[in-house]
Amino acid sequence: MSAADVVARLQQTLPGRVDVSVAAREAARADASGHAASAPPLCVVEARSVADVQQVLRIASATGTPVVTRGAGTGLAGGANAGGGEIALSVRHMDRVLEVRPDDLIAVVEPGIVNADLDAHLAPYGLWWAPDPASRAISTVGGNIATGAGGLLCAKYGVVRDAVLGVDAVLADGTLLHLGHRTVKGVTGYDLTSLLIGSEGTLGVIVGATLKLRRRVPGEVSTIAAVFADVRTAAAASAAVTAAGVQPAIMELMDAASLAAVHDLLELAPPPAGAAQLTIQTDGPAAAAEAAEVAQILAAHGGEVEVTTDAARGEELLRIRRSMHPAMARLGTTLIEDVSVPRSQLAAMFDEIAAVEARYGLRIPAVAHAGDGNLHPNFIFDGPEVPPAVWEAADALFQAALRLGGTLTGEHGVGVLKRRWLRDELGDAQWQLQQRVRQAFDPAGILNPGKVFEPAPEIRVSAGVVIDEHGRAVVVRKAGAVVFQQPGGKPEAGEDATTALVREIAEEIGVHVDPAQVEPLGVFRDLAANEPGHTVVADAFRVRVRHADVARGGEIEELRWLTAADAASTPLANLSRNHLLRLAWE
Ligand SMILES: Cc1cc2nc3c(=O)[nH]c(=O)nc-3n(C[C@H](O)[C@H](O)[C@H](O)COP(=O)(O)OP(=O)(O)OC[C@H]3O[C@@H](n4cnc5c(N)ncnc54)[C@H](O)[C@@H]3O)c2cc1C
Repeated sequence: MSAADVVARLQQTLPGRVDVSVAAREAARADASGHAASAPPLCVVEARSVADVQQVLRIASATGTPVVTRGAGTGLAGGANAGGGEIALSVRHMDRVLEVRPDDLIAVVEPGIVNADLDAHLAPYGLWWAPDPASRAISTVGGNIATGAGGLLCAKYGVVRDAVLGVDAVLADGTLLHLGHRTVKGVTGYDLTSLLIGSEGTLGVIVGATLKLRRRVPGEVSTIAAVFADVRTAAAASAAVTAAGVQPAIMELMDAASLAAVHDLLELAPPPAGAAQLTIQTDGPAAAAEAAEVAQILAAHGGEVEVTTDAARGEELLRIRRSMHPAMARLGTTLIEDVSVPRSQLAAMFDEIAAVEARYGLRIPAVAHAGDGNLHPNFIFDGPEVPPAVWEAADALFQAALRLGGTLTGEHGVGVLKRRWLRDELGDAQWQLQQRVRQAFDPAGILNPGKVFEPAPEIRVSAGVVIDEHGRAVVVRKAGAVVFQQPGGKPEAGEDATTALVREIAEEIGVHVDPAQVEPLGVFRDLAANEPGHTVVADAFRVRVRHADVARGGEIEELRWLTAADAASTPLANLSRNHLLRLAWE
């Protein structure tokens, strides 16, 4: 089915929901990471209901069209970027609060509600949902869940994973699942809710969530700001606060470069050269006592400390931290990174950042959620594309974080920007297991392909065996195929390498090869049959194809010539394995 047919089918099924305008498609190419897909998607579908999402996925499944789910597009890993041949599925307008239960401390919401709008909705009940990414005024709860977002309050109040009891998700084939529970406890079966959290649109589309709420914290907040001679001392002081057992709500660290850039942006007096700053808030009934203890620890580490309970002054101090993004934007193009290390290793990680800066001659201003060991080094460069040297430096930084017992991403996710390092952290066995998990949810690989996991290397298939419409085994091969790289294929007398491989395949699967039946084979890519995570498409290759019958339900199996137009839309998983017996590739 051609791309135009896919769009026409969507328009027919979801009238008024399918935006094919250049503006909408261009907007869906990019998120806030600064990275964009190389081409715009086919269209943007604005879902308004669970049923809309199911329809989109049924059509996508039937036609083998990839779907990229999108909340507000504020992601920093390229996860929501929809590219050529893909459907961008926006759930931004599914934004209702369906239920608030103060007695059970839960709320049931649709995914498109903006985090801050939810907060405003919950305030009259004296409740709040704790996850507070700095983007809370612009990002959606569904996006927060799909990325496993964090924020400033995580060390004390947890990340998204700690604040979600259940999700409703639509699978690639349109099946609606209700995962999780509404109870405080609940351990029935595997914890698939947790699996969906941070899955970045690759396992299912989150269409609803049951959120775990807290009562708003009563009492006065204390804010503490402390300036240190250098970032290492500031990091050591924050580690000392943690080690002392005090639990601030917020503990943010800014290094010298970021502090100076923000002071410049806000037209404040420049900070002392090399100075770094910790901004800390304590809350709850013990706020004042904790603030006093924190201040003492910071002073003992050489900090110049200010403590205030004045809300306006507290906000002024926090504003310095909150102005980091615009301050960086003035310095040049920014690659915002996101590594996490054990809190005791924070100072060591700042040393690593300094070493990488020196080795690669780059500027990397960094801030950290010091309470939880999550750092955001900002690589500054000129021009729209990340230069190779910056990626090399980022690589060095990621390896350093891993060496220190940390992780590649604390809260932003893998998306496209970190996928090449995924295997480094997970290791081979877990990386493969995770791919198999993904396949179990989405066998055809249509949900956000190329995100989190690198796309499989392109493999051109040069020979294969199919059963034709008369039930005969037909060996096919690409006309003029070159030498096979596949082990085996040892030519016997009179054979070329191609023929030898075709014969070997046929022998292996126990079919008789009639050379007269060898037909030209088109171009395949992404071999998948026995290779988890791969897909294959074919050009003029006769196969039996299984696909969902959207109109009547169930599945249809038919024999088709796959053409070049199908190439982008027919995943191998849709080809009947009984008939597509084995493929060989070069
Ligand atoms: C100024 C600024 C500050 C930020 N601060 C923070 C911060 O403090 N902490 C933090 O964690 N992040 C932060 N971010 C990053 C970003 O806001 C978060 O990752 C946020 O959770 C993304 O939400 P979104 O609605 O914009 O999702 P999108 O960007 O639209 O999507 C993000 C990913 O989730 C998937 N997705 C979205 N909705 C769904 C759904 N309903 N079902 C399935 N998959 C879905 C997408 O496919 C994509 O892979 C910041 C970004 C900016 C621009």
